[in-house]
Amino acid sequence: MADLKGKFSTIFFDADDTLWENEGYFRAAEAKFIELLADYTTPEGVQELLWQKQEDNIPLFGYGSKTYMIGMTDAALELCGGTMPEHIYYGVKKIITELAFHELEIMEGVEETLKALQGRYKLIVATKGDLPEQMAKYRKSGLAKYFHHCEVMENKDENNYLELAAKNDLDPSEILMIGNSVKSDIAPVVNIGGWAINTPHEMTWAHELMDMPESDRIIVVDGIKDILNYL
Ligand SMILES: [Mg+2]
Repeated sequence: MADLKGKFSTIFFDADDTLWENEGYFRAAEAKFIELLADYTTPEGVQELLWQKQEDNIPLFGYGSKTYMIGMTDAALELCGGTMPEHIYYGVKKIITELAFHELEIMEGVEETLKALQGRYKLIVATKGDLPEQMAKYRKSGLAKYFHHCEVMENKDENNYLELAAKNDLDPSEILMIGNSVKSDIAPVVNIGGWAINTPHEMTWAHELMDMPESDRIIVVDGIKDILNYL
């Protein structure tokens, strides 16, 4: 596939690590957590338990920094032997507060790409996570003027994308999704008959790792500006 011009009326954009940096802040928070628990076990031990607690909590509480805080407190409580010192609890809370309220760093090429597409397509943000947190980032980004609106999805599986298509009066074959995650942005969309452009990010959360599916409805580009070559 190469020329998608005129094929779509609407384009969906992932937000975290597609429009703005995100994973790097989670990695920094994880490093601070490992440091906070350094007296209790090895860095690998902290990391492994945090990963496990995070995976346990996502199905219950969804994505975002609040769920990360629950995962961190669960992990810290276990590492501290069932009684968590006050400085550990408040240390976790500080890490999460810094994570939730950091400055937004818009990724290179995003603004000029959106400017070039605006008016030619209906542009919609399709992100997953905590509703107030994602909407706050969307407003703070200064990018809202380029988009019709922002959809905060509960998850990004095939059913969620079918719902997204129906909600926007689109057939799944009319969906073009742009994003950094093969698992969340690319695979489920092409599996329901849509199209996808992958804008890989140097850092990808282990939870999001997946092999690229075989499909002629997927394009991989180096940077977001390159999507203009196809649209
Ligand atoms: Mg993303």
